[in-house]
Amino acid sequence: MKGKAKPIRLAFKYGQAEIPFALEFRDRKSLAITIGADLKVRVVAPKDKPVEEVLARVKKKAKWILRKKDYFLRFHPLTPPRQYVSGETHIYLGRQYRLKVVQDQDEMVKLRGKYLFVYGQKRPRRVKELLGEWYQGHATMIFTKHLEECYRTVKKYGITYPKVQVRKMQKRWGSCSQAGNILLNTELVKAPIYCIEYVIMHELCHLKERNHTKSFYKLLYRCMPDWEMRKKRLAGC
Ligand SMILES: [Zn+2]
Repeated sequence: MKGKAKPIRLAFKYGQAEIPFALEFRDRKSLAITIGADLKVRVVAPKDKPVEEVLARVKKKAKWILRKKDYFLRFHPLTPPRQYVSGETHIYLGRQYRLKVVQDQDEMVKLRGKYLFVYGQKRPRRVKELLGEWYQGHATMIFTKHLEECYRTVKKYGITYPKVQVRKMQKRWGSCSQAGNILLNTELVKAPIYCIEYVIMHELCHLKERNHTKSFYKLLYRCMPDWEMRKKRLAGC
């Protein structure tokens, strides 16, 4: 690679949204717009293209950019690595708890006050397993409960009650299958209920509208008028 210039930072407004992007000029014929899982928009343009022209082209793609961002907002590999020792912070339903590992004959995980107690051996690997099981159990319980509640809203649109699966995923909060099942990320139980409901509602709406089309967003707005606020909050988790 030769002569890599620093990208130019630009931004424009689209409705309520501010869309920043990084622009790079290269020896190439066409303009390319990409969005990564980090939600950053990168634009690569031919060397001789005037900036105003690039900006106009990117503005035209604003809707697509926002949709793509929405898609990536459901990806969330951002939890920092843990050591599984006393004193570190663990999150549950949007709240922080201090981990306390207590040597004990019997293994148990318990939430009490501001603490998340893990009883048993102090081996971090075991602590991690026990916590993993605890999160999995609580995720299943919480998601099932809120799925039932969200379903009451979407039922009238002819959506069939889905089977739900809870699994740890690297890249996304939730997805749905052709067969009409919903898959939710165990990690989502670390987000506030408010956000959990958004992901569930989003997936429920997909059971009727597969893709992120106009009709999908129309349905989502109808079922959850404040979904954008919830989504934003989820992104900041
Ligand atoms: Zn979606």
